[in-house]
Amino acid sequence: MRVLIADDTILMRAMLSELVESFGHTVILARDGQDALDKAWGEGFDVAIVDWEMPRLDGIEVCWHLRSDPRTAYAYLILMTANEEPWRQFKALDAGADDFIPKPVNAALLKARLRAAGRLLAMHEQLLELALTDPLTGVFNRRALMERAEGELACARRTGRPLSALMCDIDHFKRINDTHGHGAGDEALKRFAACCRGHLRVSDVLGRLGGEEFAVLLPDTDAAEAARVAERLRAAVEEMEVESEDARFRLTVSIGATAFLCGADTVDRALARADEALYRAKAGGRNRVELDV
Ligand code: GH3
Ligand code: MG
Ligand code: MG
Ligand code: MG
Repeated sequence: MRVLIADDTILMRAMLSELVESFGHTVILARDGQDALDKAWGEGFDVAIVDWEMPRLDGIEVCWHLRSDPRTAYAYLILMTANEEPWRQFKALDAGADDFIPKPVNAALLKARLRAAGRLLAMHEQLLELALTDPLTGVFNRRALMERAEGELACARRTGRPLSALMCDIDHFKRINDTHGHGAGDEALKRFAACCRGHLRVSDVLGRLGGEEFAVLLPDTDAAEAARVAERLRAAVEEMEVESEDARFRLTVSIGATAFLCGADTVDRALARADEALYRAKAGGRNRVELDV
């Protein structure tokens, strides 16, 4: 895990970082409360061990800020205090700390608490993955894709870089199910998703909207380039052969492409435009790409 250690004394920082590194974690050091926030949001971390008494911002304020920010809202926060009075523990939990550890720090206790933190973080990660992944294909589900689209749009607005989207719908998919069975249909969906993933950049976002409909977000990509990417996907899908039990068959896909407009565009509006282009691709004979105009 990446462990952020915030303490205003050099000695304590040195002692804790040696200890935490000896448990196999990576350490990020902060000198005071403000430095802790800068490092937390600049470098990221899994667990923070924060001293209560620090100049500029104290540990309570650090917990409160980290908990209130979406980037660190689910991080695991341990507050260190020399004083274990109940009101302090109450105040720590109230500010958003998950746990506290008395000073002087006992090595075995700290190790056990970090292990507990690791269990909770692993569970959180698993739940997050379940909530955001389409179980059949392993790509993002609709919810995750829409969330990412909002994030990518905000990023594109901030940086002025282009952003495009593709809407993909497998052609005559019902026939595949009817001819080869539902199991073969499922296999086709898996292969389709893997094929798309294999022909996209790591930074591109692929999601299954439902049924045999998929969407792709293409950061840093303008309309002309989006149309080229779509054509590459279309051709790759056409080349692919799906094998399932004793069936062997091919797929085609129709794709609608659009670029997000700077300014007032929304995710819903852009996807609706891509959907209209997709509709034209279907009406125009399927197995083709249409760019929204
Ligand atoms: P078009 O070219 O116009 O898109 O025709 P189509 O047959 O692909 O479109 P339609 O929307 O009529 O049919 C989609 C089919 O996808 C119907 C549904 O049974 C099937 N389907 C949806 N989800 C799944 C799934 O998870 N697994 C399988 N095997 N089939 C699915
Ligand atoms: Mg201190
Ligand atoms: Mg469909
Ligand atoms: Mg279809």
